[in-house]
Amino acid sequence: MPETLNPFEIAQRQLDEAAELLGLDEATHQLLRWPRREVTITIPVRMDDGDVRILRGYRVQYNDARGPTKGGLRWHPDETLDTVRALAAWMTWKTAVMDLPLGGGKGGVTCNPKELSTAERERLARGYVRALSRLIDEDTDVMAPDVYTDAQVMAWMMDEYSILRGHNTPGIITGKPTALGGSAGRADAAARGGIYVVREAGRALEMDLKGATAAIQGYGHVGRSLHQLAEELLGLKVVALSDSKGGVYRAEGIPYSEGSAWKRKTGSVVEMPFTQPISNAQLLELDVTVLFPAALENVITGSNAGNVRARIVAELANGPTTPEADIILHQNGVYVIPDILCNAGGVTVSYFEQVQNAYNFYWEPEEVYQRLDTRMSVAFQMVHQVARKRNLHNRLAAYLVAVQRVAEACKLRGWV
Ligand code: GLU
Repeated sequence: MPETLNPFEIAQRQLDEAAELLGLDEATHQLLRWPRREVTITIPVRMDDGDVRILRGYRVQYNDARGPTKGGLRWHPDETLDTVRALAAWMTWKTAVMDLPLGGGKGGVTCNPKELSTAERERLARGYVRALSRLIDEDTDVMAPDVYTDAQVMAWMMDEYSILRGHNTPGIITGKPTALGGSAGRADAAARGGIYVVREAGRALEMDLKGATAAIQGYGHVGRSLHQLAEELLGLKVVALSDSKGGVYRAEGIPYSEGSAWKRKTGSVVEMPFTQPISNAQLLELDVTVLFPAALENVITGSNAGNVRARIVAELANGPTTPEADIILHQNGVYVIPDILCNAGGVTVSYFEQVQNAYNFYWEPEEVYQRLDTRMSVAFQMVHQVARKRNLHNRLAAYLVAVQRVAEACKLRGWV
């Protein structure tokens, strides 16, 4: 049977494996296999030429047993209800593995944001909030940035919601600009959290990462921050970068200053001077110490996992590795830091942002970094220990920790 690449089927299969190992009762297992609430919306967006385009959007509130659902909003041409369901499930396990008092949710709009002007993007952001306004609030479901949405989009959405409510509501959304109640350190939080856990993995595996090589697949917002922090905090030498147009390789290393300047200037990493072109597929198979998938789902599958030569795979993307690939990587001794742990820095600083909004009192960057480091390191140790003790791959270990916590909350509430 060919392996499924449907992200929601993958998310359900990951849960099934954890449920079996945990000996979850049938009712709890079934409850956790499905979103508690999912909404499909139709958003009319007026284009700059006066035409109205009709876009489809989704919001999935997967599970709120541990707290309000929390998760980003993606704008992508391939977005479907199933991708959003999967991403919402992963958010549920992510907040639980980090022990945040939050549930998991996700939103998406099927569109190509690269074809939209700034004014059209603003109208889409506001239309999305209007369509969902009765289903979200600070204590129910809180959105944040994800693929192709950023702090500006969050600002428009927060403003629209504030207008609907008749007062300022910064806590409705996280990842806002700092001028509007965003947290210091939120912009690069996912990358920073990922770097902290790679550092922890290096210690656990007794590897010296200074001067070791790395490759980054995906050079969007997260990929760029990752490049900078990999260099600054770990002294990694990044030898390859890629984006949706292709990739580049240089054995001596590509400094962040060069990579980011080229991307800013040309909109892509391709054709960067003094580099060799490589494909995204080749980048994943490079002989590097750390491989960072930082783009989209399903890039490491049963067909290419056997060719991955990296010692550590640090998943900054959500869902980059399929269950078939997980088994192969584990057998080959590749140390995978799973998405629900590796990229949890974003939602962790989102949680800090919620706390700061609630208190209307804001922290210095150092305080954010310190608290993030502590949370990431504790969660890493927990997952690493469970994996070691039970001889499991890290994703399954992370699921055991997370699913157990969510199941306990569902039981304590008397749901199952
Ligand atoms: N979109 C990010 C994620 O996938 C952040 C979510 C959030 O901050 O709520 O983790």
